[in-house]
Amino acid sequence: MENRIRVLDEDTVNKIAAGEVVERPASVVKELVENSLDAGATNITVSIEDGGKKLISVRDDGFGMSRADAEASFRRHATSKISSIEDLSRLSSYGFRGEALSSIAAVSRVILRTREPGSNEGVQIVSDSGKVTVSTVGCPVGTEVVVEELFGNLPARRKSLKSKNIELAHCREVVLNYILCRPGLSFTFISDDETDIVHVAAEGIKGSLATAFDSKVAEGMMFGDAEREGVRVESFVGRLEHSRSSLTDLRLFVNDRPVRNQKLASAVLEGYGSKLMKDRYPVGVIRIFVEGSLVDVNVHPSKREVKFAKEGEVLSAVGESIGKALETPSLLYQYDLTKFAERFEAREGVPSAESIKTVQATLKMPEVEAKELPRPLIVPLAQIMNTYILAESGGNLLLIDQHAASERIVYESVLKSIETGKELSQALLAPLVIRMSAAERRVFEEHRETLEGSGFVLEPFGKESYALRSIPTVLGVAQGESAFRNILGDLAKMAPGKKLGLEVIWRVACHTAVRAGEVLSEGQMRQLVSELMHTESPYTCEHGRPTMIVLSPADLERLFKRQV
Ligand code: ADP
Ligand code: MG
Repeated sequence: MENRIRVLDEDTVNKIAAGEVVERPASVVKELVENSLDAGATNITVSIEDGGKKLISVRDDGFGMSRADAEASFRRHATSKISSIEDLSRLSSYGFRGEALSSIAAVSRVILRTREPGSNEGVQIVSDSGKVTVSTVGCPVGTEVVVEELFGNLPARRKSLKSKNIELAHCREVVLNYILCRPGLSFTFISDDETDIVHVAAEGIKGSLATAFDSKVAEGMMFGDAEREGVRVESFVGRLEHSRSSLTDLRLFVNDRPVRNQKLASAVLEGYGSKLMKDRYPVGVIRIFVEGSLVDVNVHPSKREVKFAKEGEVLSAVGESIGKALETPSLLYQYDLTKFAERFEAREGVPSAESIKTVQATLKMPEVEAKELPRPLIVPLAQIMNTYILAESGGNLLLIDQHAASERIVYESVLKSIETGKELSQALLAPLVIRMSAAERRVFEEHRETLEGSGFVLEPFGKESYALRSIPTVLGVAQGESAFRNILGDLAKMAPGKKLGLEVIWRVACHTAVRAGEVLSEGQMRQLVSELMHTESPYTCEHGRPTMIVLSPADLERLFKRQV
């Protein structure tokens, strides 16, 4: 019988490895940029043509390579970065597997030009379908790698590449990631001879954020940090109104390496808690720095995933940093008053719409140490439209949504009762007899357990009635019956069989809250704003909607055009 097992030749091995390392043009950009960073470059220029399908070039001003190293660099597992597995725990370089150049060369035509600082001539290596030619060239210090016709020798892979614009977007994303995690370096990204992105080192992280995000989003970002033994987290996160419908704009970095990690993302979301609306996701940059011995970057061929030795610590530090970032009340919400201003501009004799740019109102609370005075003092002035409270705080004009504010208060008080194990239910001195229709009785029986869990205790009383013995503590006695009926109504509208737990409690809370349209006395307004400012998150209701809009003196000046 013939032997079946054969050791694969190097070309085949490289092509297989390429399948893991090189998925699309963006993967080539990533590997080449990482090599430039590892070479100590301070200026990196990435140019692509046809979304990188035709050409990708990455040029750096790093320390270059000698002739011998340049020739060796195309060999599989050729690396200058580690020499044994122990080195991985002290790793400070992006690369270490020594398979990027060999893999890329296996699936494209590669031209590498490089020169070391001490050398007066450079070396050029052309690798074309397995044929390697070495020659001497004149070139600047540093390295340029040009990759042409990616997957030219693998028609099926080539076909699986997406349109130019999609591949371009992916390449762009890669460059943005490094702009965000290496703000101290300069990057240029050029697509089909058009300069797309320029980031200059001097702009630092502010410049990085402004390049990677919409300028408004970047300007509004809030900063928070946290530290644990061997772990440090720096978070820059967007305002609530800049949240997105997916997690794509939440960028995570571990030791300046872009990573994907569901748990880290969840920790960020938890940090936002109820401030974010349902199905909304924050934007931002989370930079995690972990001691090399506490993180494993070698769990994925393209090093996109990481594993932590002390995961709990990392996650709690992330949560803490977000909490701190969101503490800055003055930055939580920012309003675009363009629309508001335009309405007034439509009148005759008023300057054109162009004359007013986007007017932003920023919450500018008095500058006091957060610890000294936990919340700014708010003085209610009047109730308008029976819906909003006009108030003043530290020279700013406030409009408070009475319902949203009240919801926040009730929500937190219910939450507190649950957390502290306080009785959720209060017994009524005299039970209330409630007559229910057959339909109501059905809904009640179906959801009986949930309702009891939230504090409503009823006992059968005759044929069609029940005696309401206890009600949730958040409700006043007078509200008991109407709130119960309202909730039954809510439950009837819901899909049958749906499991409801806390949701019922929130509904109770919602029905308890002061409603829009309710007239409030001065005393009630004062109590409402004071209770609001004693909650943990006074600036949003539990659905993530703002509880207040703030107009600073500067905003008013702009709106009245006292300022150009
Ligand atoms: P790795 O980065 O994992 O070491 P690569 O295949 O990406 O493997 O690169 C192989 C080697 O080539 C590197 O270890 C490095 O010594 C050298 N090299 C690659 N790109 C550059 C560059 N831009 N500047 C200097 N040296 C480089
Ligand atoms: Mg590399």
